[in-house]
Amino acid sequence: MSKRLISVALTTAIVALSVSACGNGDDTGSSVVDRAAKDKKLVIGVKADQPGLGLRTPDGSFSGFDIDVAKYVAKELGVDQKDITFKEAVSANREAFLQQGQVDMVVATYSINDARKQKVSFAGPYLVAGQDLLVREDNKAIKGPKSLNGKKLCSVAGSTSAQLIKDKYAKDVQLQEERTYSACVDRVLTGQLDAVTTDNSILYGYAAQHPGKLKVLNSPFSEEKYGIGLKKDDKKGRDAVNDALAKMVSDGSWAIALKSNLSESGFRVPRLERY
Ligand code: GLU
Repeated sequence: MSKRLISVALTTAIVALSVSACGNGDDTGSSVVDRAAKDKKLVIGVKADQPGLGLRTPDGSFSGFDIDVAKYVAKELGVDQKDITFKEAVSANREAFLQQGQVDMVVATYSINDARKQKVSFAGPYLVAGQDLLVREDNKAIKGPKSLNGKKLCSVAGSTSAQLIKDKYAKDVQLQEERTYSACVDRVLTGQLDAVTTDNSILYGYAAQHPGKLKVLNSPFSEEKYGIGLKKDDKKGRDAVNDALAKMVSDGSWAIALKSNLSESGFRVPRLERY
């Protein structure tokens, strides 16, 4: 082989190598659509302690509205539900999970907002909830965020719920940040703390788990649009997941999933925000 031919061959080999090295990274595999089509499996970040939304059941399987949405979307991307690995996410690690490629998507009561859009992409929304308060059934003192003066309030680190309290009510409220909402609920049940704040959709599930002990105030004070988190700039993924969500609504699966997981909640079909 001549010197020139050798160098052409070498260059070709290097180019081929660097393309295949990107197989699961930034090139061919950069969209969740391509990864799902190629591997026929997906890793999806979900909550594991939120009844009605994302809950790990004793047999190790997952249930809830987010789980049904995740399964539907995966199916539309060509992945059977048995080939989904559900990975527990908490509020604070969702962006990192996506950025580090630890999950292919996040379906975890994940509100779309501008700060998060700097780091990840969102399809959806597929549900619009509102921040609310959960207190013990016999608590008459707390009627809404304005009556939290001097009270011990629990929320979760990395959530929009904790952020809103810090931004708007920090002067008057003693905010305790836990890793999960179930940890907050435990501390309210034992009387250590006075209230939990997060989305009404999440709080309804805990109130239903502890009838006669906990109540949701039912006076939402924010709008939480749940999106499906994807890697930043995965436009192809966003479009495909939005198409899947539109189909989930139009074929009636969305309403069935809502009824079976969040029965009396009265949530309505949201408008997709395609971008
Ligand atoms: N939806 C809000 C958020 O994304 C609160 C619920 C949660 O922490 O998952 O932060």
